[in-house]
Amino acid sequence: MNLVERDLKVIWHPYTQMQTALPPIPIVRGEGACLFDEDGKKYIDAVSSWWVNIHGHAHPHIAQKVAEQLNKLEHVIFAGFTHEGAVELGERLLKLLPGNQKKVFYSDNGSTAVEVAIKMCLQYWHNRGEARTKILAFNNAYHGDTFGAMAVSGRSAFTAAFDSLLFEVEFIDLPDAGNIERLKSHISHLKSQLACFIFEPLVQGAGGMIMYEAQYLEELMAHCRQEGVLMIDDEVFTGFGRTGKPFACYHVNQQPDIMCFSKGLTGGTMALGVTTCSTQIYDAFLSDDKLKTLFHGHSFTANPVACAAALASMDLFTDPSTQKNIDRICAAHLEFSQKIEYHPKVKTIRQTGTILAMEWETGDNTSYFNSLRDKLYQYFLAAGIILRPLGNVIYILPPYCITDDELNYVYAKVAQALEEI
Ligand SMILES: *Cc1c(COP(=O)(O)O)cnc(C)c1O
Repeated sequence: MNLVERDLKVIWHPYTQMQTALPPIPIVRGEGACLFDEDGKKYIDAVSSWWVNIHGHAHPHIAQKVAEQLNKLEHVIFAGFTHEGAVELGERLLKLLPGNQKKVFYSDNGSTAVEVAIKMCLQYWHNRGEARTKILAFNNAYHGDTFGAMAVSGRSAFTAAFDSLLFEVEFIDLPDAGNIERLKSHISHLKSQLACFIFEPLVQGAGGMIMYEAQYLEELMAHCRQEGVLMIDDEVFTGFGRTGKPFACYHVNQQPDIMCFSKGLTGGTMALGVTTCSTQIYDAFLSDDKLKTLFHGHSFTANPVACAAALASMDLFTDPSTQKNIDRICAAHLEFSQKIEYHPKVKTIRQTGTILAMEWETGDNTSYFNSLRDKLYQYFLAAGIILRPLGNVIYILPPYCITDDELNYVYAKVAQALEEI
């Protein structure tokens, strides 16, 4: 039996209708922005393997640091014990974040980082003896697949089977010039019930790479601050350079109370989640009363190997060459989008930093289930490019180390697809 046959016998893949999906492609190795399959065919990973990979595959620096760590300490319980990697990562991460972020809480992935953030906010009010339990979120948001994270995500086909069990959330539209005043007065009206406001800054990723302007996010944040509504900035996707700046919150002159990280945190090497918070949040849990403890933890909280990967990724991230690469991709995306923006098949094209997204004109409504999706996916795979359209929305968000030649090849194939599909 070959690997695909063995896979199909035992594996259930994520976000995959196993009855109709094409067999998976066995990948044996990665290097830079590329992945290689069993037959040696090369694929440019233009989606950074579900948005996690920022420095390229099998990066030797990360590999070395992870190997060293594995030979020293693979894991230790993180209640009652600590280790160098967790502390150093906390110190170095906080230095990169807005000045009010003072404490680091570790978990396993983006969804758990969001769960922790939600619990911090809800229990913050609980510990203070105030009944504030409503959460404000954006329509069409995506914050993860666990139940709490799902509850604060937009109701959609992803959540349909569970909708009746998800806690109620106050959803508002993305802000713009037309609705910002209405949104603000809505928040003022609800403020005494609101525990927090959770948002994806500037870009709603899984919701279809929907982008909105920093100016209106800043206004909403300033208003939440004024009204005493806590803010959770979910930077799981936008963190570590995706939007052109180190973190998306640096596009606005406001500081969130809590921030969530995962995806790029370890450079895409392994799973790790981080939730950071201000001292205001942290202090609300300090007490002689044990019931005010944040009762949350995972078996692998602050796993030393994952921390080593994150530290190695941070070495690379803070090297000036990385910001240069980010700037280079931003400029290239802009130039390419200007080239094709008036193509009749380009319904809309939008960019935030290293994220370029275009809606393919299909005559139909834009949707995750648009049938064009499979056609486009296969077309690019055949051309040796991994693009995973969200319905008829194609997006390009490569590892920052992608070469000009590789990037130009991706653009050329998108331009060719516009003519051929
Ligand atoms: C991917 C994502 C999550 C969930 O992260 P997982 O590691 O997949 O659980 C949460 N929030 C945002 C904004 C994301 O893009």
